[in-house]
Amino acid sequence: MKMSKMYIPTLKETPADAEVVSHQLMLRAGLMRKLTSGIYTYLPLGYNVIRKFEQIVREEMNRAGAQELLMPALQPADLWKESKRFDDYGPELMKLKDRHNRDFCLGPTHEEVVTDLVRDEIRSYKDLPLNLYQIQTKYRDEVRPRFGVLRGREFIMKDAYSFDLDQAGLDRSYQAMYDAYCKIYDRCGLKYRTILADSGPIGGDDSHEFMVLAEVGEDTVVYCDSCDYAANLELAESVLKLREIDGSDEELSAVATPDAKTIAQVAEYLDVEINQVVKSVLYETQHGELVLALIRGDYEVNEVKLANLLGVVNLEMAGDSVYEELNTVKGFTGPVNIGEVKIVADHSVSKIVDGVIGANEIDQHLIHFNFARDLDLEDTFDIREVKAGEECVHCGGELKFAEGIEVGQVFKLGTKYSEAFEATYLDEAGKSQLMKMGCYGIGITRTIAAAIEQNHDEYGIKWPLALAPYQVHLLPLGKSEDVIKKAEELYQELTSTGIEVLLDDRNERAGVKFNDADLIGCPIRVTIGGRSLAAGELEVKYRQSGKEFTISTGNEATKIK
Ligand code: ATP
Ligand code: MG
Ligand code: MG
Ligand code: MG
Repeated sequence: MKMSKMYIPTLKETPADAEVVSHQLMLRAGLMRKLTSGIYTYLPLGYNVIRKFEQIVREEMNRAGAQELLMPALQPADLWKESKRFDDYGPELMKLKDRHNRDFCLGPTHEEVVTDLVRDEIRSYKDLPLNLYQIQTKYRDEVRPRFGVLRGREFIMKDAYSFDLDQAGLDRSYQAMYDAYCKIYDRCGLKYRTILADSGPIGGDDSHEFMVLAEVGEDTVVYCDSCDYAANLELAESVLKLREIDGSDEELSAVATPDAKTIAQVAEYLDVEINQVVKSVLYETQHGELVLALIRGDYEVNEVKLANLLGVVNLEMAGDSVYEELNTVKGFTGPVNIGEVKIVADHSVSKIVDGVIGANEIDQHLIHFNFARDLDLEDTFDIREVKAGEECVHCGGELKFAEGIEVGQVFKLGTKYSEAFEATYLDEAGKSQLMKMGCYGIGITRTIAAAIEQNHDEYGIKWPLALAPYQVHLLPLGKSEDVIKKAEELYQELTSTGIEVLLDDRNERAGVKFNDADLIGCPIRVTIGGRSLAAGELEVKYRQSGKEFTISTGNEATKIK
């Protein structure tokens, strides 16, 4: 394309309301413009990059056996009421009414629509497995739309939905999508990690997130240096690997169902609002000691989500007790306030943050119960000092923390939606069975911003080859007829060999052209200057590595790569 004819409104100044580099550069390089909070117009150059990435996603989805379709963004509320998500999804769901006062919403995701589709069409086991995907605009009324397209209210997503006969089929579909995601991000040259994730309001069992490591990331990734353990800190799977007390043991069962008074006392001691406590669970440590956890919201025996953990006391802690009455419980001598960051013996609640109990910052910190470790009685730690360098519960290796941008997520949904929508098939024996579902999302626009976070310098974007809007930026300098003629010839020649070329045929000074080339960030810059052309030479510069060299004229296509 010729720049003189293209709408590429680059900016010299950094727009004041753009906080992060990708947002700044997407505006400055003329990739997009803001319409209103969290909603953007993609300009020709930006849309070019979007199509590049979409193409990679399509190729890998198709290769993995998924089929592309396109579902409506505008969805009847009835479907969302059937899945109970019309209310459960919360204020992020954009709701609206039609002229007959009927409720609608703008799809933030498409489990409802796709399950409704297949429940009416798929009848037999012979029709499965099936994987359907689309690349489509999504709507989420985010509390804090920010960082440009990293968190928009309207954004492009690739979403795929798999339908299988049974768990083994779902496991295969999930793995195929997981592998396809790795290929997609590898092809884009992104540095990422796959981590264990919380399945959030979408629900379901297994889930992994694909995290592009970048400082501006809003998620914290906890990963082990020595094994492949990595999780979202939100989930912090490493936190509670405990065993619930066997309720059959008489002595213990008395403890296993703490009475309301005990819970109230412990809650008061821990400074937790009693009405927040949805569940209290007793755990037995490897050393046979008892730990009481106060939990709000979701609860699973072996994994309590950090954000749902209100507080923990070790019921067998030595020392003075403010709750003598709890001594009715065997061995109990008093709770320890985990806010005190007190470590007692080798098997107690170990590292805890101050204010952790009921504090909103709770998921900013790792709470680690390591019952296997040898600690001296009354050791005291400050969690902020030991935050990094914790020991992995799987291998004892060192835990590290990194900020990440969630660019994709895969979920095993199981039968959550097939049950709600009665999406069934007849098996070989003619018996009706629920389909096993999975869902798989990639943030198209967010991934592009994430790629810029990882690939830029002070002058502009450094596009990975696969995402670059054009591979070659051709810069004729000056007004000499020879230069203009050579530029035109080279433009035609490179284009004819399938190379995508952006020709800066504008009547601008060399400085302006160089600055815009750095800003726009095409991987290969070819400069045609009057003097070097006369000497039979062109200058080539790689944007990523900064490597510069000259090539002789003739057969340029083979020499620039
Ligand atoms: P987040 O935790 O950042 O809010 P999410 O977990 O709610 O994201 P999913 O429901 O998993 O998002 O959607 C699939 C993908 O869509 C995400 O992995 C992300 O890449 C992208 N995405 C989600 N919300 C947004 C948004 N507001 N703007 C841009 N992309 C988004
Ligand atoms: Mg979200
Ligand atoms: Mg998320
Ligand atoms: Mg997600």
